[in-house]
Parts: sequence; structure tokens; C-alpha cells
Amino acid sequence: MMKINHPGILYIVATPIGNLKDISQRAIEVLQSVDCIAAEDTRHSGHLLQHLGLNKPLISLHEHNEEKRAGELIARLQQGESIALISDAGTPLISDPGYLLVKLVKEAGMRVVPIPGPCALIAALSVSGLPTDRFVFEGFLPSKAKVRKEQLEALRLESRTLIFYEAPHRILESLRAMEQVFGADRQMVLARELTKMFETVKSGSIHEIINEITQDENQERGEIIVLVAGAKVIFEEETGFSSLKILSTLVDTLPVKQAVELTSQITGDKKNDLYQKALQIRDQKKHGKES
Ligand code: SAM
Repeated sequence: MMKINHPGILYIVATPIGNLKDISQRAIEVLQSVDCIAAEDTRHSGHLLQHLGLNKPLISLHEHNEEKRAGELIARLQQGESIALISDAGTPLISDPGYLLVKLVKEAGMRVVPIPGPCALIAALSVSGLPTDRFVFEGFLPSKAKVRKEQLEALRLESRTLIFYEAPHRILESLRAMEQVFGADRQMVLARELTKMFETVKSGSIHEIINEITQDENQERGEIIVLVAGAKVIFEEETGFSSLKILSTLVDTLPVKQAVELTSQITGDKKNDLYQKALQIRDQKKHGKES
């Protein structure tokens, strides 16, 4: 009888961002069970597998060979092999290769299963003390000064917490560009070497953090995440419009829900807060007319 192979599964496996104890039990079990492991840097990942006592075939998958490798890996999955994708650190695809592979595997109708775990941006956000309910992850800023500035300009009025990955040799340059665009007083957090021996999380204004880095060059070393507070106050300062004024104008002509929705889109203020204010404004206006 002919053997029918079921297609294999592609597992997206998160690995530690520093401290090797952060690997999950399930990640270890999956890495043990798969037929092969696709890795960004096979030498780097070889050390992790060695640490875990695993001996699995490693296949390199990086930004320069992803398309070609994806074809080969899809053929293997179709033969019934299971494959894990890992990156050098943290969650694959997050500023790391794998997007094309996942897209093509899904288009080929096969399963992609996440094995969640460490992710530097989430770890940093969770200890930043900045609002966590809404945030924007910008990955790495462009290295060219002009393009970087344009990208920052586009984020100037963004009200959600901003998160950037940054290379140590560019950190000062980037922070100075942020100081120019967001202003010296905007609050920020510099999260460095998370889960490692020299882990530091520093909070302050952009200007204060730049001063700290220039006084202690250790702060320019290692792996770094920059978090910047959203631009709440800036909206009113820059535009001269207050969110109350906008809300009050819209409430005159639109249903409360729509007025709130639009005001939130324009100012970035939270809908819940605006809703309460809208009800008060509407009641005040009603009573004003009655009396
Ligand atoms: N896929 C990874 C993740 O899940 O976070 C990110 C990979 S990206 C190529 C590497 C960047 O992530 C570093 O330049 C740094 O900005 C950030 N990063 C990674 N590990 C970190 C750590 N332990 N502490 C601080 N930042 C880290």
C-alpha cells in the first residue's frame, strides 16, 4: 500500500534574548521533536542546541537566501517533515528573517504553529513604566540621517508609546535626532542587555539620557532598546486645538459615539475618557438650551 504523508508543521520557536534559562519547556520539546531546524546563523544556534544537548540538522535561513530556502523547506514539509525556525535571539520574524517563509508556507496550505517566548521589545515595554495599552514598534531606524529624520518626523505626533531597536554604535546619533524631532523633554527609557549580567533600564528625558550616555560610555554598549513616550501634550501645543474643543464641536452635529471616534483618531486620546467628557458636554449643552 502506498504511504500517504501528511504535511509537516512549521514551528516558529522563540529562544532566549540573553539568559539561556528563559527557553520554555515546550520550545525544548519541539526542538527535540522536529526533523530539522532552520536558523539565521547556524553557528550561533549550534551553541544553543549544544547547551540543550540536542543534535539536529541545522539549515541556514537569512535575508539573502530566504526565498530559495523557503522553496526547499516547503518541499520538506510536503514530504511530512516537521521544521522549527529559530533566530539568533528572541522571537523569529521580529526584526529577524522568516516573514517570507511563513507567508509561503501558509499559502501552500500548511500549518504554522507559534511556540511563544522571549521577545526583547515586550520585555523592555513591560518594565519601562511607559503606557503599555497601545504601542508602536518601529524596528530599527534607517541608518541614513536624512531618511531617519523623515521617519521620526512622521512619528512626532504619534500618541502611542514608541519602541525602537538600535545598534550600539548608532545610539547617540539616533537619540540626538530624536531630541531634535521630539524635543529634549520628551520622556524615554533606554533598556540595555535585558536578562544579561549588565542589564540596565534607565528612564528620563531624552536630554537626560543623552547626558548619561555621554558621561558613561558603557551605556553605549550591548543590545539596546529605545522607548519613547507618546506625544499626548504635544498635540495641543503644536496644533493649538484642544481635544475638548474638537469634541465639543463634533458633538453638536454627530452622534456621541462618532464624535468620540473621530476625536480619538485626531488627538490620540483614549475613547473611554472622551466618551465620559462627550456625555458631560452634551448634557451641559442640553441644560444650557433648556434654561
Ligand atoms: N527577534 C528578536 C526579538 O524577539 O526581540 C530581535 C532581533 S533584532 C535583530 C536584535 C535587536 O533586538 C538588538 O539590536 C536590540 O535592539 C534588541 N535586543 C535583542 N536582545 C536584547 C537584549 N537582551 N536586551 C536589549 N535589547 C535586545
